Amino acid sequence: MRLFFSFFLLVACLSAAPVDWIWSARYVITMDPQRRVIEHGAVAIRGDKIVAAGPQADIDGAYQAKQRLDRPDALIAPGLINTHTHAPMVLLRGIADDLRLQEWLEKYIFPAEARNVTPDFVRWGTRLACLEMLMSGTTTFTDMYYFEDVIAETAKECGIRGVLGDTIIGFPSPDAKTPADALRFTTKFLERFRHDPLITPAVALHAIYTNTDDTLQKARAIANRYSAPLLIHLSETKRENDDMMTKRGKTPTAALDGLGVFNGRTLAAHAVWVDDADLTILRDRHVGIAHCPSSNMKLASGAAPVTRMLALDLAVGLGTDGPAGSNNDLNLFEEMDLASKLQKLVTSDPQTLPAQQSLEMATIRGARALGMEKEIGSIEPAKRADLITVRLDRPHAVPLYDVYSQMVYALKGSDVRDVMVNGRVVLRDAHALTIDAQHVIAKAEEFGRKVRQSLMTGPQPR
Ligand SMILES: [Zn+2]
Repeated sequence: MRLFFSFFLLVACLSAAPVDWIWSARYVITMDPQRRVIEHGAVAIRGDKIVAAGPQADIDGAYQAKQRLDRPDALIAPGLINTHTHAPMVLLRGIADDLRLQEWLEKYIFPAEARNVTPDFVRWGTRLACLEMLMSGTTTFTDMYYFEDVIAETAKECGIRGVLGDTIIGFPSPDAKTPADALRFTTKFLERFRHDPLITPAVALHAIYTNTDDTLQKARAIANRYSAPLLIHLSETKRENDDMMTKRGKTPTAALDGLGVFNGRTLAAHAVWVDDADLTILRDRHVGIAHCPSSNMKLASGAAPVTRMLALDLAVGLGTDGPAGSNNDLNLFEEMDLASKLQKLVTSDPQTLPAQQSLEMATIRGARALGMEKEIGSIEPAKRADLITVRLDRPHAVPLYDVYSQMVYALKGSDVRDVMVNGRVVLRDAHALTIDAQHVIAKAEEFGRKVRQSLMTGPQPR
């Protein structure tokens, strides 16, 4: 009898396909087209790809794993996607809060950046940001800052996925004297990272009001030459719109469309002050939107018409923005929670933007906003293995009636326990495997002292 049983075991093992990992949990939230939530589910991973997701018994029967991670008290979800941030600004976190945007920029941010932003600052700032993002479940971030090549190198070292572009802006910046320098830098950057498995190089225009028409159009042409996404801030404040109406008699959206800037992959951050005609343009040009509820609320910019955007099926993702003064952290769990609550508040409708839709924005719809929905954003066969586990055994996580509600309204970034990016485990039991957390935190304190000193005694900013 025992021999008979062993024979069956042997056959089962021989017929089971080899995989590198099986991850199992109490629930698997797939965000696939059917929006399957699998109770007692598992995911099989080979190399950098997801092979299958299904009931744990089926996955265990069909696959033989080299390693496994079983989390019966957790859920597995797709890694979260941050569609807008300026990651190294974590080193300026909370430098000056509760101010008007202009005063905040001119008195604090511009002088602090002019005196402190070097490749070294950017490298340590990115390490800190990556640590914070991975520990709160973000597996892809979209970034616009300076020395973006250093950010790309650091993101690769930390094992996080990045859609990254060096800021093109019409005044001298820490890494480019002129927009022409920034465009040259961008072309080199696109050449260097275009085939990278983790980095999607992008073209990052700061905004319409900080660039000339010529720069805007050249940037679009470069993006299209490399099929790269173009990132831009759009209609963040009412003032931006009022100024543009005075200057051109058009909204920023209509003006950019008239210049051909939307003719290709585009991701616009904020889109707070957009009217129905603007929304039609954004839909027709397939422009992705990075909605940043914390930033828009903290800077009193306004509330983006996300409910109307979703009714038009725009690709709206979530972004943290910041993090210096407009947020001040990189936690997408908070953005999901606030995105839903902000739309309910401004539409006076508690049924608008339900939890599942917020999670969609942080995953598959965010992937669509980046033009990467075939690669990331859901747990489906052949997609990149970007996964997180989230604990369900803390006081604020029980009891559980609806996984989407729990994920968006109750769970925290600090409940994230494990993270896999591109098939590599980068966070295990809430410990980063690719980043020396203690060293990074000590360095951040050191940079904080330097920045404070520079604001008291440093030379006048340019
Ligand atoms: Zn921004």
